[in-house]
Formats: sequence, structure tokens, C-alpha cells
Amino acid sequence: MGKKLYITTAIPYVNGTPHIGNALDYLLGDIWTRYQKQNGKEVRFQVGTDEHGNKIAAKAAESGLDPQAFTDKMYINFENLMKKMGAEYTDFIRTTDIHHKAAVQYIWQKLQPYIYKGKYEGWYCIGHEAFFTDKEVEATGGVCPDHQKPYERVSEENYYLKASAFSDQIREAITTGRMQIVPDFRKNEFLELIKDGLPDVSISRPKKTLTWGVPVPDDPEQIMYVWLDALSNYITVIGYPDKQEWKDYWPADVQVVGKDILRFHAGIWPAMLLGLDLPLPKKLLVHGFVNVGGAKMSKSVGNVVDPNEIIDTYGVDVFRYYFSRHIPTLDDGDFTWEKLENAYNNELGNDLGNLVSRVASMVTRYQSGVIGEAPTGEHDMGPYRQAMEQLHFNRAVDEVWVMVRSLNQYLESVKPWEIAKKREDPEAEQHLTEVLGHAVNTLLQISDLLRPFMPTVAETIHKTFDSGVIVPIEAEGGLFPKIYNHTENPRAPKPQAS
Ligand SMILES: [Zn+2]
Repeated sequence: MGKKLYITTAIPYVNGTPHIGNALDYLLGDIWTRYQKQNGKEVRFQVGTDEHGNKIAAKAAESGLDPQAFTDKMYINFENLMKKMGAEYTDFIRTTDIHHKAAVQYIWQKLQPYIYKGKYEGWYCIGHEAFFTDKEVEATGGVCPDHQKPYERVSEENYYLKASAFSDQIREAITTGRMQIVPDFRKNEFLELIKDGLPDVSISRPKKTLTWGVPVPDDPEQIMYVWLDALSNYITVIGYPDKQEWKDYWPADVQVVGKDILRFHAGIWPAMLLGLDLPLPKKLLVHGFVNVGGAKMSKSVGNVVDPNEIIDTYGVDVFRYYFSRHIPTLDDGDFTWEKLENAYNNELGNDLGNLVSRVASMVTRYQSGVIGEAPTGEHDMGPYRQAMEQLHFNRAVDEVWVMVRSLNQYLESVKPWEIAKKREDPEAEQHLTEVLGHAVNTLLQISDLLRPFMPTVAETIHKTFDSGVIVPIEAEGGLFPKIYNHTENPRAPKPQAS
């Protein structure tokens, strides 16, 4: 039996409510998980929340709660979103879990040969909870582009991880593909960033500036830096170091991260793993940001889109469809309510939904609902599988749509309704059976390919055709009843000119 598969997602801070970026992490992890399971693999799929650090302590204080009570309340929003998205995760870790905190202290001790104490002076972004180099600060005019806050000059006594000791090994792992960074342009960006080597990183803060975190063992004056604590979750959640099962899953097959945190996952994290004498993850899937109508989503602009609202209005599979197909898996993408609604009404409603109901009703009308024998379709699944293996999920859905469109064109050209008129002729009868049988087989295949993306819709299509007899779709208006909340209804009566 091969190694069990393991996929991870970045753990978000619980200082706010979940946003589209979190939902995208969960979705990408879930698509991969479902695809692998469909192929008979056993998959462990981690998600969770990052609950330490100053930002959380500050938010807790604002709401008049102690940090633990605050995080106990806030993490539920993330768990609820996971459930709502239908994500089949196996583990939900909170960095305030007792096992995690003990494991991180063990990790600290095991990293001792690579930890030293030193004075640190540098440019710090409180939003990132991270230091930035002079070069980066200069390039951005002294203001963090992600947080719109000026970097602060900070000087303090910290513990350091000697990440520089691992520069060559990490570079080699990335270049040879032992630790693959997908897509290539992100890999190249990162290699460029570390061409002079990895800098050592501060991994603790004095207790006077950071109170809410895992204490440094044997030094009551220092608290662990949130990144060391958070990154460790990927192994502590599977039981590192005390539960043997972690060895069945590590190294992770895929780690899903946003482009803004690649530097931590391709630099500090591998350095920690090498320091612990553990293998590196096989792949980092780096996704981009979701913009709204070409603009960066931001609270101050007021264009933040709540994933819950999309799911509540259009349904979870529609959310999954849009974000897997119309947001490129490995690059930035764009969302607008109009785009979503057009994709819903046209691609899902007209292309797929009508196709399903059309085929079902023809089999019902011409063959009393009994699906006849037909040769199985000869569709080339190569491009779909290749896209899935290369983590270009959007291209895989495009491939499914090639099948959807070509089946529509096939029916338009063969015209089963014309053949049905000549059914006294046994040859025509036979031809009709074959045409509809082919259509049904193709739809069953489409439903299988859609399973990782739209599990509920896929199951409905499957049920409609799989038993040999048509099972009508119960939902009123079919699979995708038209919605015109943000676009014009072409059938709406035109306002009268007066
Ligand atoms: Zn920042």
C-alpha cells in the first residue's frame, strides 16, 4: 500500500471573519481531496485557525474578552464556512490546542542547534507580524502594500533561527523539483528573492511586546513568534512528535498557500523541517488574489465579498463552480456579481442544466423513460487528468465544458426529435436509441468529472440517469433556475415608452 496522501491549507488568523481568500484555500484543498479519493486514494486534509499573536490579543481586548475566550468564539466562523462549502476535511487544528502548544515547544527544543539569541533591528509590519528587508521597504515606499501601513523601525532582543544554514539545500530542493513550487513563475520569483541566501529569522519576541503566544521553553522573558508556532501546525495536527501516525502522512503531497505567504512556506518552513531532520513537502500550490471588478478587495473601499452571501444566494456548487473555473487556480482572478450571475445563467443554466433536462425529457417522451443500450463514449480524458495533476483546476473544468458544448452540438446536428418522427422504421428506432444512449453515457461521464468541483450537482445528474430509468429532477425550475439579481432578465417586460 502506497503512502497515504496529505494536503494542507494555510491557517487564517481568527481576528476577523472568513473572506474569499480563505474560502479559496478550502476549495482548492477540497477539489484535490475529492479528486484523489475518487481515484481510490486515502487522503488526510488539514484545515484550521491561527490563534496567537498581537493582532488577536488586540481584537480580544476591543471586544472585552480574554484572548482564549475570543478565539473560542471566532474560530467557529471558519469551521462553519468549511462545512457550508461541503469541504471534506479530516482535521481542524487550532493553534491554541494543548497538543499543538506542547508539540511546538518540543520543536523549539529540537531546533536548539540552529537557534541563537541576538539583537534585532529592522522594518516591521504589524499586519504581517513580520520583518521586511531594506530593499523591500524601499521598493514599496515604506508602506506595506498589503496592509497600507508604514513599516516600523523595531529594535529588540530575539531568538533567531539560523535559516541561512539551509539556503543551499532549499535552493537545491526547489530547483530540482524535490519541493515543487507551482506555478513556475512563483518558483522563479522565490529563487530570485533568495539568490543571496536566506536570512536568519527572528522566532521570538520579548514578553513585553508579545503576550499571547506559546512561551519559549526555559526563557520566561520570551514568547514564540507567531510564524514558528503557526507553521508547525502542518505536522502537529497529524500527531508530530508523539503519535506514530504522522509518519504515514508526512511529507505533505500538496500545501495550498496564497502568494503573499509563499516566502514563509518556501523559506522558513523548509528551514524548520530541515532543522528537525524531516523531509520537505512535495508541492506548494500557490494561488493568487481575488479582485473585485479589477480592484483589490478591501474593507476601507467597502468592496469585500462575503463567501457566505454567494453560497446563500446561488448555492454551494455555484460558488464552487465560479471559483474553480473563473478564478485561475494559479494566478489572480476577478469576481463581480454580474460575472457570477452570467456564468450561472449561461454556462450552468443554458449549457449544462438545459442539456440534462432535454436529454431526460426525450428519453421520457420517446422511450417511456427507459434508457437503451449504447456504445460507451470514447472521450479523451487525457487533458482533464493532466490539468488535475498539474493543479490547473480551472483548465480541468474547461475540459468538461468542451464535452458539454460538443454534446449540445451533437444533439443539434443529429436532431433526435426528427428521428423520433420516423419511428415506425425499426432502423430509425434503433438509431434513436443509440443517439439518446450516447447522450446519457456522456452526461454520466460529465457528472463523474464534475464531482470534485460540484459534488451535489454531479450526484443529481448521476441519479437522473444511472439506474437505467430516468429519475426526474425534483427541484423546481431544474438544476439551475434563472436568477436575475445583478443582471437584466431578457424576458422581463420592457418599460413602456410614454
Ligand atoms: Zn503588511
